[in-house]
Amino acid sequence: MSSPPNAQYAPETCQWCKGTGHDDHIPTKPDHPQPYSCAACNGQGRVQVAQPSQPCVHCKGTTVNPDPGERHGKPCDYCGRTGWSLRWIPPPRPS
Ligand SMILES: [Zn+2]
Ligand SMILES: [Zn+2]
Repeated sequence: MSSPPNAQYAPETCQWCKGTGHDDHIPTKPDHPQPYSCAACNGQGRVQVAQPSQPCVHCKGTTVNPDPGERHGKPCDYCGRTGWSLRWIPPPRPS
């Protein structure tokens, strides 16, 4: 079943970067001192979430995979590490 075409979306904070748009999980390097852009939200800090917004049923919005095993503690694939269930990621802004 697909989501209704007239679903209402509202911007919510990307849980991976906490709204900064920067991926602090990737350590910067001497030749790349700038913070990396967050891949979960395309560096925008926000994702569009179908309302009423629901945290990811899998990671409960933590963005971390709770499953035991080798995927434990890895980024949650169910929500694309955004922490939200039904979301739409805005395309990157043209620079
Ligand atoms: Zn983000
Ligand atoms: Zn998740």
